[in-house]
Amino acid sequence: MTQLATGLTVEERAALATAYSAALSYRTAISHQPARPAVGLDEAMERFRGPLSEAGESAPKVIEQITAKSEGALHAMTGPGFFGYVLGGSHPVGVAADALVSAWGQNAGSASETPAITGMERTLCDWLVDLFGLPDGTGAGLVTGASAANFCGVLAARHALLAAQGWDVEQDGLIGAPPIPVLIGAEAHSAVTAALRYSGLGAGRACRVATDEQGRIDPADFARKLALCEAPPLVILQAGQINTGGFDPFEALIESVHARGGWVHVDGAFGLWATVVPELAHLCTGVARADSWAVDLHKGLSAPFDAGVVLVRDRAALVAAMSARGAYLPSQNAEWEPSDSTPELSRRARGVPSYAILRHLGRAGVAELILRHHRLAVRIARAVAAEPGLTVANDVVFNQVAVCCGEGPAGDRLTKTVLRDVQARGKVYPSHGEWRGRQIIRISVSGYATGEAHADLAAQEIIAAWRARRDA
Ligand SMILES: *Cc1c(COP(=O)(O)O)cnc(C)c1O
Repeated sequence: MTQLATGLTVEERAALATAYSAALSYRTAISHQPARPAVGLDEAMERFRGPLSEAGESAPKVIEQITAKSEGALHAMTGPGFFGYVLGGSHPVGVAADALVSAWGQNAGSASETPAITGMERTLCDWLVDLFGLPDGTGAGLVTGASAANFCGVLAARHALLAAQGWDVEQDGLIGAPPIPVLIGAEAHSAVTAALRYSGLGAGRACRVATDEQGRIDPADFARKLALCEAPPLVILQAGQINTGGFDPFEALIESVHARGGWVHVDGAFGLWATVVPELAHLCTGVARADSWAVDLHKGLSAPFDAGVVLVRDRAALVAAMSARGAYLPSQNAEWEPSDSTPELSRRARGVPSYAILRHLGRAGVAELILRHHRLAVRIARAVAAEPGLTVANDVVFNQVAVCCGEGPAGDRLTKTVLRDVQARGKVYPSHGEWRGRQIIRISVSGYATGEAHADLAAQEIIAAWRARRDA
């Protein structure tokens, strides 16, 4: 094999060039692609399955094959017509930085070994603490997403609450430990119950607090259940309910938990981004008084996937829970050692794409992005609600729109059919859901690429599909 002066073989160079060029072609064409894959799972499995070859294949050929075989089987999640779940849209500046992250191959687990990465990631964390209006000195761990961030936040809470009762959970575990009462909302995200399962606190032991028609915790029921807690509790609140976009009433709830010596963790996967927009910040009033927060960077910021952050007011609690070396700060890196704030030791430089996106957008650009998502959601909701027979089931306070067709069980069947029709037409892609006993078409506006044209298209597609089924 010919060795080039660049350190790459001709073949390796060709593989990289092929991949970068395929990535460019893919993203250039994305807005004209069908909003959903034309190829199903079975066919995709057929395309890729086969025996592992003995001799291997040439590097550019592998990349060409991956590209060709993925044709039609990728979901246009980065496109302007994607409204499913709450995903963000892999902003191209983040994608560009992500290409460097892989090429650089830095193990970001150690600060002094990778100074450039530490410089960017530390700065990213400072910017996030500032953007969200959190207290100076808040600790941060860059993790894969809000599931991991919620888990880390719960572990920091578990540490602090048990330490306050004289119990060293990292050393002595949970067997025989004093109990930690846990309160969560009736509509808490599955990531929250997963965090309770993983942390040994038990999803089934958590006390579920009643919520209102927007999925917000009911303060009266909360006060009753808080009063029953036999020890300082862990309370998990929510900024952004996945169906309604609703926010818990942070200010009053947090104060009452702190009066009992408890810890408040906020699942703010997409909702905490409301704090960066003056017009929407009221949704998060008081949220900065919590003790820990979980946020996705791949949602609000449209970072490429593998981008979330856990933020903990008392950084020592995060380090005590996460550090594999025990509950102390290593002397040579007293202020920050990345692996002391996350469960992993070795990891990719996952903060770099978000650092690049934030630099690119600036403070005003981030606020504009989040506000745009809200305005487009309101625009879609208005158009849909104006159609007789269609109902918007939620107050559109943020970026979520929940649409119901007709009434009762017959209406629910229509909702499912209309959603299938809209998805099959392939112009836009909303997803399904269930809210308060009704089927819903769930529309999330969270991709950086979505603008008015596709918001209008989403409303038109749903209305057209509804009319066709209603008149059938
Ligand atoms: C998306 C989401 C999560 C989970 O985040 P991942 O990034 O998928 O791990 C948790 N809570 C809420 C409210 C979410 O929207």
